[in-house]
Amino acid sequence: MPIRRLAPETVNRIAAGEVIERPAAAVKELVENALDAGARRIAVAIAGGGIARIEVTDDGNGIPEIELALAIERHATSKLADEALIRIATLGFRGEALPSIGAAARLTLISRPRGQDVAARITVAGGAVGEVAPVAAPFGTRAIVEDLFYATPARRKFLRSTAAETAACVEAVRHLALAAPEVAFALSIDGVVSFDLPAQDRRARVAALYGRGEMEALVPIEAVREGVMLSGFIGPASLTRATARHQNFVVNGRPVRDPLLRMALRIAYREVIPQGRHPVAALWLDLGHDRLDVNVHPAKAELRFAEPDGVRSLVIGAIQRALAAPADLAQAPALR
Ligand code: ADP
Ligand code: MG
Repeated sequence: MPIRRLAPETVNRIAAGEVIERPAAAVKELVENALDAGARRIAVAIAGGGIARIEVTDDGNGIPEIELALAIERHATSKLADEALIRIATLGFRGEALPSIGAAARLTLISRPRGQDVAARITVAGGAVGEVAPVAAPFGTRAIVEDLFYATPARRKFLRSTAAETAACVEAVRHLALAAPEVAFALSIDGVVSFDLPAQDRRARVAALYGRGEMEALVPIEAVREGVMLSGFIGPASLTRATARHQNFVVNGRPVRDPLLRMALRIAYREVIPQGRHPVAALWLDLGHDRLDVNVHPAKAELRFAEPDGVRSLVIGAIQRALAAPADLAQAPALR
């Protein structure tokens, strides 16, 4: 066959496979957009494992009617001020999420920026873009995704059970809610409210998401080195789980599943917890944007640190010190 350029719909479908590998990834992208839009409250509703329907409603900046069609175009973004990709402060920056979702599913965006009299709506289904139409809606944006992967059946085959996909969606929302405790977050699953949290501080958000009982056992940690700030809460060696589900990392406000951080956690606890068990932790790392490359993974779940060894030893050291400390406290009850 001769070399030919792929049709844009094909390109978007291929990208959809990378960026939106399962419903939880679509949830993550939509909530990240809401956070980037400065939302104070985000409501997520999921039905049928996120395959049937995902709805994310925010009270953020909104998209002006004249930009609505652009929002779902590939590589169109309002965010990337730094084209050298060094200081990326927003969660999104590639302009790939909405066109990818629109290529694989039926995506409806309803948006109304402040100052615009009525909201406008656009739908894109399997890559086919409809007309922009006026509609009544409050300020902010609502994104509705229906029949995810109906247009990319190859991807659909790889989905797990509805229950497993639902669980992954819940996990994604929990992680995002942890990353932005100052934003009110609500989640409903198949019409049932799963949580509805007000704006909180980190401690209260961890307590709300991990459970109050667990929170009482958690140990706060804090450490700074060479401009890298670590803080958060870790479980004592006695509190372990069968899975790593209760390990959440937030780096510069991004919820990440970073192998380096997971490994650091594993090493820090290696001597004190049984093999096959996982410690509990909610950890935030803050460092200069220029010391972090967030552009190494299609779903932005992994990072590259400019000084990985420094980050690793900061995390391991802080955890090991905190794990050693409660014993001292026990010997000095007056301190409690
Ligand atoms: P990116 O987030 O990388 O810019 P997306 O495809 O996720 O790419 O979104 C494209 C654009 O649509 C964004 O840059 C933003 O301008 C706009 N947008 C998407 N979702 C929202 C939202 N919830 N509120 C306001 N603007 C949004
Ligand atoms: Mg985005």
